[in-house]
Amino acid sequence: MPSNFIRDIVDQDIACGKNGGRVHTRFPPEPNGYLHIGHAKAICISFGIARDYQGLCNLRFDDTNPEKEEVEYVDSIREDVHWLGFDWGDREYYASDYFDQLHQHAITLIQKGKAYVCDLSPDEQRRHRGTLTEPGKNSPNRDRSVEENLDLFGRMRQGEFEEGTRVLRAKIDMASPNINMRDPTMYRIKKASHHRTGDKWCIYPMYDFTHCISDSIEGITHSICTLEFENNRPLYDWFLDQLGIHHPQQIEFARLNLTHTVLSKRILLQLVQRKIVSGWNDPRMPTISGFRRRGYTPSSIRSFCDKIGVAKFNSTIDMVVLENSIREELNRTAPRVMAVLDPLKVVITDYPEGKIEEMEAVNNPEDPSQGSRIVPFSRELYIERDDFRETPPPKFFRLAPGKEVRLRYGYFIKCEKVIKDPKTGEITEIHCTHDPATRGGNNPPDGRKVKGTIHWVSATQALQAEVRLYDHLFAAKDPSDFPEGKDIFENLNPKSLVTISQAFLEPSLKNAKAGEHFQFERLGYFFADPVDSKLGQPVFNRTVTLRDTWEKIEKTGKTS
Ligand code: ATP
Ligand code: MG
Repeated sequence: MPSNFIRDIVDQDIACGKNGGRVHTRFPPEPNGYLHIGHAKAICISFGIARDYQGLCNLRFDDTNPEKEEVEYVDSIREDVHWLGFDWGDREYYASDYFDQLHQHAITLIQKGKAYVCDLSPDEQRRHRGTLTEPGKNSPNRDRSVEENLDLFGRMRQGEFEEGTRVLRAKIDMASPNINMRDPTMYRIKKASHHRTGDKWCIYPMYDFTHCISDSIEGITHSICTLEFENNRPLYDWFLDQLGIHHPQQIEFARLNLTHTVLSKRILLQLVQRKIVSGWNDPRMPTISGFRRRGYTPSSIRSFCDKIGVAKFNSTIDMVVLENSIREELNRTAPRVMAVLDPLKVVITDYPEGKIEEMEAVNNPEDPSQGSRIVPFSRELYIERDDFRETPPPKFFRLAPGKEVRLRYGYFIKCEKVIKDPKTGEITEIHCTHDPATRGGNNPPDGRKVKGTIHWVSATQALQAEVRLYDHLFAAKDPSDFPEGKDIFENLNPKSLVTISQAFLEPSLKNAKAGEHFQFERLGYFFADPVDSKLGQPVFNRTVTLRDTWEKIEKTGKTS
């Protein structure tokens, strides 16, 4: 496991006996959406450190906002963390479990003269807050007596006041250069039902107050979060110091950004709600459930997270890095098969009608232990339309009139005639002859060689199936870069999903089970869709192309 600055801190803490040498982290998602690949990075860091230091990592739902949270999200988060390969044992916690303790701590701060009830409206509060260059102004209620504060806070809790009329604030410093320290709100009135505590509360604690105390209650040692919380750390420390309770160390790292990708739950939710995608697990979504359905594996995502490392400055990782991690894995593990997505019929005119030969095809040249299978060869075949050109450009080594090509595991064939639709001029069929001395696609005894090898399927035996070609959801490398007056959805890729309703696949794929991976030779890695595949009738999602085609497009500006 490569080291990084967080692991260096943990090493030092262990060396000097801090926390008695214990390592205890947590992953604290807010259940207001599905987890995405950025969360995978955070999960791999916090759970990974716990694993490697024989420590513990808690799963804690940060459910302080009663309005946006749903049980569906809680369930999906649990499933996704498990799927990634991590386990939190019996330590599944909810910030809402601590509402009573948080309330008690708030009262303690009031009693210490460190918190007060403020009657300013949200608008007035904003105006009092000041700016980065100007100090804020004290609230007129800042010097209320402890008794009055206790009374008002008690009545807030009893539901006596309307939403927005009062808040409980920490009494810190309205002139602090750090705006987070200018008497931040600790509690607000919200007359909303909570998914776990029901109608017990009508005041809810704010994130900054809740998070540090939750960490403290759970005995967390290292509270690892993203860089945007750096300016909240003084507040995290302040609450714990004032209360004098166990004090974890907050450590921030740079969040993950990926090209062609949006990792904002707000935008992801809109993609779902506006039905731009089929759901949170649409294979184009950067969610963990989307990647799972697309055919990514937990190990490929973990190895991606290891590869990108952990840093203290923000950067954007190229999507190719993620794609390469699944390519590397599937290249080793996925059996290869032949499939034709855009078919052109080939008739081998000198091959007997009705004859079927069983050709042996290697399942994975990278892994001989995967053995071989039988592929039927017959007089009528399909090849990829793109593998034939009537007037081939220079260096086109595939099929063309008068040219010879190797059919992988089949024969050498030579194009003798092109048949066209008399009306449209479209090529409907290619007539070829074959060389019986090249059975299995082997070179003939005369030493003749061909430069091109193409894939094919037998027309009569082929399995017809739906194949979905997925591509980046956003065409723009940086989707958040859009002209004024437009929005991020202008940057969607109109070709992010191309559905081929009738692809021709080699017949062995009849036995493909939902959730199995294959390499369709020369086309990419494909995954039998776990939702729509049926026994004997799989549906395939393209996980990733064989090579990075976008890099080429971005360099040349051409799409083929
Ligand atoms: P929001 O708070 O706007 O709902 P969020 O993405 O911060 O969105 P959380 O559920 O609060 O969602 O995130 C849980 C944890 O995952 C946090 O510790 C957060 O720092 C981390 N996290 C979120 N997005 C990323 C990212 N892109 N890269 C790395 N870690 C992330
Ligand atoms: Mg958050």
